[in-house]
Amino acid sequence: MKMSKLFVQTLREFPNDAEAISHKLLVRAGYIKKLANGIYTYMPLAQRVLAKISNIIREEMNASGAQELLMPFVQPAEVWQKSGRWQVYGKELLRCKDRHDNDMCLAPTHEEVITSVVSDTINSYKQLPLNVYQIQSKFRDEIRPRFGLLRGREFIMKDAYSFHTSQEDLEREYQVMADTYTKIFKRCGLETRAVQSDSGAIGGSVSHEYMVLTDTAVGENDVFYCDSCGYSANSNHAISILPSEITDGGFLKEEIVDTPNVKTIEDLAKFLNINENCILKAVAYIYDSKPAVVMIRGDKEVEETKLLNALNALEIRPMEESEVVEYLGSSAGFISYRGIDKTKVKVLFDKTAKGMKNFVIGANEKDKHIVGANLEENIDFVDVSLVKEGEYCSVCKKPLKVTRGIEVGNIFQLGTKYSKPMNACYTDAEGQLKPYIMGCYGIGVSRTMAAAIEKYHDDFGIIWPKEIAPYHVDIVPVNIDDEVQSKVAYDLYDKLNKLGIEAVIDDRSDRAGVKFKDADLIGFPIRITVGKTISDGLVEFKTRNDGVVEKITPDEAIEKCQKILLS
Ligand code: ATP
Ligand code: MG
Repeated sequence: MKMSKLFVQTLREFPNDAEAISHKLLVRAGYIKKLANGIYTYMPLAQRVLAKISNIIREEMNASGAQELLMPFVQPAEVWQKSGRWQVYGKELLRCKDRHDNDMCLAPTHEEVITSVVSDTINSYKQLPLNVYQIQSKFRDEIRPRFGLLRGREFIMKDAYSFHTSQEDLEREYQVMADTYTKIFKRCGLETRAVQSDSGAIGGSVSHEYMVLTDTAVGENDVFYCDSCGYSANSNHAISILPSEITDGGFLKEEIVDTPNVKTIEDLAKFLNINENCILKAVAYIYDSKPAVVMIRGDKEVEETKLLNALNALEIRPMEESEVVEYLGSSAGFISYRGIDKTKVKVLFDKTAKGMKNFVIGANEKDKHIVGANLEENIDFVDVSLVKEGEYCSVCKKPLKVTRGIEVGNIFQLGTKYSKPMNACYTDAEGQLKPYIMGCYGIGVSRTMAAAIEKYHDDFGIIWPKEIAPYHVDIVPVNIDDEVQSKVAYDLYDKLNKLGIEAVIDDRSDRAGVKFKDADLIGFPIRITVGKTISDGLVEFKTRNDGVVEKITPDEAIEKCQKILLS
């Protein structure tokens, strides 16, 4: 490819609407163009990276025995009504009508369609197991599309679905997919960690996320892990053992005390001269338009995905101050579970409340708290609290650590979540109709590309792992009008391409500095500069990842490319 012909425009500045470094670099280096919020055109450089990631996925999925197909992106409501998700999938499902007034939607995922396809095609247990996959655009009307390709509204996903006659066979395939995922990401130059996770809108009981661990703030997931036994889980699923602490407030008598203008837990602890863990905090939510109050130890936070699951709800949000007055008859900062009409307000006790004694709670009255309170008997506790670093691993009791991660893949054991409601069955050896036992397995193809940039970049631009770089080598003649430089550069270009090494020649008449800047920004793994030293028979060979520069002959440069790229 000649740089003068490459359909790319690099920018001098970062876009001002971008926070994540991958978003900034993808725009500035000319990989993506925004059409609307969360919707991008993948320019030729990006398309080459996506094709490489997709090819790695294809090779490994095919090697695992899965078969590729392609399902419709625009889908009728019927299949979604059949599974029951038409009603429960939130606003991320973009619904529309066709010209005949039929309800339709843009596919955010394909469990419904594949279940109906397989159900129409497979009748006998003899035709199972089966694993099919596709690589395709998805649409999710994300509430906050941000960070460029990390969280788009339209994005590319590989999604696979497997069908089995037993839980054991599903577990076998789940392990095959787990191994396949590790291989795929490794081949993309990315180390991943498989972590236990919540199953979210896809459903099912067991699921693991493949996380690229990052220090950057854009990893939207906190991962808690244990170095000692290998336990790791997304914060929405992580559990811990609390360090033993004194949670006895020491108040010998239950009484109401004045706490004027003391609203936060921190202020209350200071005011009463106690630790925050001797306060039983009430946190109020609205779930599916109904009120709920969570009682949790003062120093702990509510984990909202855990709460969503505990409430069996579709949506939750914190209560507004006016709603606290309306639903709880209290004022924010002074809420208590006592005195609340439990037929109207759902009250949950987090397990961190267990064992607390003589503690402090709100008095359901402005500027007043109760001290010396104790919980009633027979309370059912739930786990809706967020784990904190330093709490202990529930498996081996060593301290947990935390890091941030970008979820690039997710595998699920679905069981019969879709086959049962959709009545998708096969006939077993005894002639009985049984619902398929299913698994599903996703990879964010476009997110993987962005995650690689999050992981590999410097102040000058992207540093692609060689396996997914759009091109391998950038050949830069310093002065394209110099006959010798131009001849050596084109000679290198032809030879490399013949060897299957993807080379670009920067044939533009720009200054060398401009060309070097673009080379670093775009992220070619190797740059070969043909300049004045060619009079001594030497070119400059630079590797992008370590910045090392060497003066070698053109033939040595070719050998070196082969060694680095084809090994
Ligand atoms: P998230 O929790 O990040 O919203 P998810 O768990 O809802 O993602 P899955 O249904 O598991 O997503 O989809 C499979 C994969 O698709 C994810 O692991 C992720 O890599 C990718 N993906 C999901 N949503 C997006 C998005 N909005 N933009 C880019 N990639 C996405
Ligand atoms: Mg997921």
